[in-house]
Amino acid sequence: MTQKPSAFGMIQEERLLWEKGKAGRCAFSMPQRDVERAEMDSALMGDIPDLPELSEVDLVRHYTRLSQWNFGVDTGMYPLGSCTMKYNPKLHDRCAGLPGFAGAHPLLPVQWAQGVLQLMFRLERLLVAITGMDAVSLQPAAGAQGELVGMLMMQAYHRDRGENRTAILVPDTAHGTNPASATLCGFKPVGVKSNAAGILTPQAVAGVMDEQTAGIMVTNPNTLGFFEEHIQEICHIVHQKGGLVYCDGANLNAVMGVVDMAKSGVDVLHLNLHKTFSSPHGGGGPGAGPVCVKQTLEPFLPIPRIIKEKGQYDLSEKYPRSVGRIHAFYGNVGVMIRAYAYILSMGAQGLNRASRMAVLNANYIKEQLKAYFHLPYDRPCMHECVFSDQYQRPRKVTTLDMAKRLMDYGFHPPTVYFPLVVNGAIMVEPTETESKEELDHFIAACQAIAKEAETDPDLLLKAPHQLKLRRLDETLAARKPCLTG
Ligand SMILES: *Cc1c(COP(=O)(O)O)cnc(C)c1O
Repeated sequence: MTQKPSAFGMIQEERLLWEKGKAGRCAFSMPQRDVERAEMDSALMGDIPDLPELSEVDLVRHYTRLSQWNFGVDTGMYPLGSCTMKYNPKLHDRCAGLPGFAGAHPLLPVQWAQGVLQLMFRLERLLVAITGMDAVSLQPAAGAQGELVGMLMMQAYHRDRGENRTAILVPDTAHGTNPASATLCGFKPVGVKSNAAGILTPQAVAGVMDEQTAGIMVTNPNTLGFFEEHIQEICHIVHQKGGLVYCDGANLNAVMGVVDMAKSGVDVLHLNLHKTFSSPHGGGGPGAGPVCVKQTLEPFLPIPRIIKEKGQYDLSEKYPRSVGRIHAFYGNVGVMIRAYAYILSMGAQGLNRASRMAVLNANYIKEQLKAYFHLPYDRPCMHECVFSDQYQRPRKVTTLDMAKRLMDYGFHPPTVYFPLVVNGAIMVEPTETESKEELDHFIAACQAIAKEAETDPDLLLKAPHQLKLRRLDETLAARKPCLTG
């Protein structure tokens, strides 16, 4: 994509490598040849790919500049609700990069991979301790895959008992992946409405739960940032009808070391190591969505499972009722190493304190901004709070305009238009890793934007103004993506 040169500090216009290449440039020098020149058989060479020819300085500058356009948790606050974009200490990257781990090939015979198997075995035990559940598989590569595995296990459980249940209850506040995972597994998702306080009531669940329903998927804390206070009663209702309870634990960052998930009554739970446990994420990087289960579901966990016998770790496939293998080898090991290092460096008290601070930060933001932005559920929240654009709409300023404007102030926008139960939702999750000063900066920027919406709405409609690119036509970008420049 060619643009006019932009006068924006040191960050310069950057073209694609293909546009920058010049025939004959090269980024390396080969030693003098000491054998006779020979022609290669053209059949052996095949088609030579059309690669750009560049010098070393071209290459280094290209990637360095691109890195300066990036925004991540290392550049600033990233208050993307439901995503837990917290700062990830570099120590954990260092641990994942230790040569013994980084160089271990997944096809190594188990006797040569005892260290990494031990780490994974111990991580499973730590997750058991944190959640209160009985057994864990680290295999799923993402939260959504953890959900799918949870659904497959529920299905296997019912089939094992000679039942073929067809429906799953999914609350209206659920992440879109919940009904998608249930559907992929062949279940029909049935909606359950949350109440005026933004949580599920036992009555609403009892009204739709029956013997055809395999169970319920509950996110706790839910995506409005509230703890499902009736979770035990809800689990009881579902269990009474022979169903199981799936908990989407992607929001564990609000309750780790505080809530015993097993005691809340859930049968299966997934965690997002790449949210809560110190793996950088976004942009499609590797993740891990371990599933934790109660004993009743343990036989159905994916294989292979890590076992310890006579002091040796091994991968066992001897679980005839397992739902099978769901990832190559044993999942994304680098993410597991970071999680293990994080949990050990925090300790039980540290994890508990991190959750409390995440909750405190979200409530601080909620209280400081509720005079400026409509707060549809005005009550104490957990790790995130949800506003809407209701106060700004009379001026034709929407959530999207304010999100774009926030970039001018140097912040990544919050999650917008989710959860769906709030019209024009603005969902802020600050996480525990932001300081009071940073939170105050963010609050001041949001307050300034609310004032701009009053005094100069046009400014917002055209935002962002300070970035390399102005407002994009997002529909066009989605329908006709320009991938070649
Ligand atoms: C992020 C998230 C998911 C999905 O996790 P992925 O790793 O992105 O697949 C599911 N549920 C909730 C509540 C989430 O926040």
